Amino acid sequence: MGNLVHAEPAELLAVIRLRRGVVGECRRVSHIVPLPATGPIPTELVALCGATILPSQAEVLDGIAGMPCEACLARQARRASLQLR
Ligand SMILES: [Zn+2]
Repeated sequence: MGNLVHAEPAELLAVIRLRRGVVGECRRVSHIVPLPATGPIPTELVALCGATILPSQAEVLDGIAGMPCEACLARQARRASLQLR
């Protein structure tokens, strides 16, 4: 945790949104969550913006849908530009 940055090329990115009823509609933004390419799903998912999400409270989306988390999008854009160098 902390400031540790995971940048393994095998990393998967999932788009995850908290289920209806877990939080208010205004907080149901689509977070981008890095997942390990292998092994079990972690018991707590940490989005790029730092939000902690329990898998049981979340739904996985096919892509960015609804209202994206702006902090996640900004960090993803920055990661993508770093990887191009
Ligand atoms: Zn986010």
